[in-house]
Formats: sequence, C-alpha cells, structure tokens
Amino acid sequence: MGRVYNFSAGPAVLPEEVLKEAAAEMLDYNGTGMSVMEMSHRSKAYETIIKEAEQDLRDLMNIPDNYKVLFLQGGASQQFAMIPMNLMKNKVADYIITGQWAKKAYQEAQIYGKANAVASSADKTFSYIPDCSDLPISEDADYVYICENNTIYGTKFKKLPNTKGKTLVADVSSCFLSEPVDVTKYGVIYGGVQKNVGPAGVVIVIIREDLITEDTLPGTPTMLKYKIHADNESLYNTPPAYGIYICGKVFKWLKKLGGLEAMKVINEKKAAVLYDFLDQSKLFKGTVVKEDRSLMNVPFVTGNEELDAKFVKEAKAAGFENLKGHRTVGGMRASIYNAMPMEGVEKLVEFMKKFEEENT
Ligand code: PMP
Repeated sequence: MGRVYNFSAGPAVLPEEVLKEAAAEMLDYNGTGMSVMEMSHRSKAYETIIKEAEQDLRDLMNIPDNYKVLFLQGGASQQFAMIPMNLMKNKVADYIITGQWAKKAYQEAQIYGKANAVASSADKTFSYIPDCSDLPISEDADYVYICENNTIYGTKFKKLPNTKGKTLVADVSSCFLSEPVDVTKYGVIYGGVQKNVGPAGVVIVIIREDLITEDTLPGTPTMLKYKIHADNESLYNTPPAYGIYICGKVFKWLKKLGGLEAMKVINEKKAAVLYDFLDQSKLFKGTVVKEDRSLMNVPFVTGNEELDAKFVKEAKAAGFENLKGHRTVGGMRASIYNAMPMEGVEKLVEFMKKFEEENT
C-alpha cells in the first residue's frame, strides 16, 4: 500500500527519508545489535544520540550558549503548568489569547497566580492576531505568554509582541523549525514535537539560563522543575528516548536541506500554492485575515456544512487524509508542515479545482 498525503494537524507527516532510516536501523542500531527502543539511556550509544540531537538543534536555531535545551515529556500541555510553577516569582503573568491553546495555558496559569488576558482575538473567532505593539503589560509581570502559531485557527504572529521589557514565553508547537527564529528575543521557547519535529511524547524547551532557578512555587513536583532537568542534561529520569532519536534524524534532514532559511523559502512557496488558489476560488474561502496567515495550518470553508463534509469524504477517497477542520470550528484544515512535499499541496489544489467545477 502506498502512502497517503497526510494533512493531519498532529501527530503529523514526517520526512519519508527519516522513517526509512529508522526502519533500517530498527533491529540493529549502528552495530549495537539492538534497537534504540531497547537501549539504556545511560549507554554510550544513546549519549551520542541525545548530544548530537541537541547540537544539531543548536546549530539549526542558532541557540546562544546561555540557553539550555531540555527534552521533556508530558506534552505541550504540561508546560502550561510548568511555566507558571517555575517562572511566576511575583505570581503575575500576562497572556495574549489567540486561540484555544493560549486560552488553556492562561486558564492553567490561573491556578498558580494572577494571569491577565492583555489581548484577545476571541471577538472574531480567533481569525486574526491582535495589535500587540502597545499592550497594558503588568508592571510586575513575570512573563508575557503567546502561542506563536495557532494550530486550530491558522494564525501566526508575524511580529512578536512588544513585551515592554518583560520575558517572552512562546508555545511554538505548530511552527517549530518552520523558519528561522531569533532565540534571544525569548525567555522560553517550547513545543510539542508531534507536528514538525518527531513523534508525540517529546517536548522541547529552550530556556534562558537565568530563568532556571531553585525558586519555584511551593509544592512544585521535582519532575516539573526546569532546574532538575537542566542540571541532569535531560537525563534526570528515563527520557522519551526513541522520540528524541527521531527528532535528531529530523534535525539532520533539515540541516541537509539547507537549514531554516531554506525551509522557510520552501514553506512560503508551498503555502502560496494553497492560499493563491483559495483567494481566487468561487467555492472555497480561507478563514484568516491575509496578513496573519500561518504557513503551517490552513483552514478553509465552502460556507456550506454539507458541502464541507462531502469534500472531506471525497478527498479522503482520493488519498488526501485528515482534512477535516478541528472539531470545535468545523470546515477544513490542511496542515502543511515541513515534511509535506510541495507535490502534496499541488495535488490537493488540483483536487479542489475539480471539486469546485463539479459543485458550483
Ligand atoms: N499547543 C499547541 C499550539 C498545539 O497545537 C497543541 C496540540 N496540538 C498543544 C499545545 C497541546 O499539545 P499536547 O497534546 O502535546 O499537550
């Protein structure tokens, strides 16, 4: 059976080359006579895997020496709690609400301190990014929080908010490694890897060293302290070892491709094929204001729920999987992460044209 074009929002498509390499190494990794799944995380072979993964990520993102890279577990959702537990010294933080994931993080932070919603795009179903150039940032805010790319609604911050000197914390789960970033602009960048980087089970946290302290909120479990993981180089306990190994392979794939600059050019071209079609279509319509469109998640509708359902069904039969929009918003969503080939997007657009002709 052939592979389908998988437009899932996550877990999502991974580079075929990486999957093939992992398959070839499944029974005997690099002459060890065992799979990486079966290997002690304290072994020499695994030490090389995790160290190389970290170094390759540092190279790709140009991560300065005063930032730690942590490979953790618990999903991006666990960071919703870990961030306030570790960073809320004044017990105040400002959140910009641009979708469900930002809202969930905001709600979680309320358990630990005063979380303020300083901006929101809820008034228009999160179809835009609010103006964040002059927000009422709290004087004593420990950090300002954003979800940089909104997986469900398909918006992306094209410009980072003016945090008025406060630490910026960003969830980049759905735009991780899709384009270059200036790490120095953030205190914490984190993301679940199951969209652009690897299999579910790994969360990568890139955190400035001065934010890693013993001074966490009372009752913070050991496993939820950044310091424990930083001091032990992500090997305090058994890490998600196989997942990190696959992430490492994706980092090498990206490096070979030319790094994040090259990836960005490809992603822009790929997204343009779909957005250009949507902009002139008589049937399909994008749901996000143009200037805030994500390169990774592209929601669209026909304006008729029955027709949407028909499209998703026929697309599936034609080999285009997971095009149904998020259960909370309906319509369609094509997630076109790094590993989605240009050909997949071109073929999808061809299919959409045909569907349009047949249904208008
Ligand atoms: N943040 C964003 C932007 C997401 O898209 C998701 C999930 N898709 C999450 C957080 C939650 O991730 P997890 O399921 O790994 O907790």
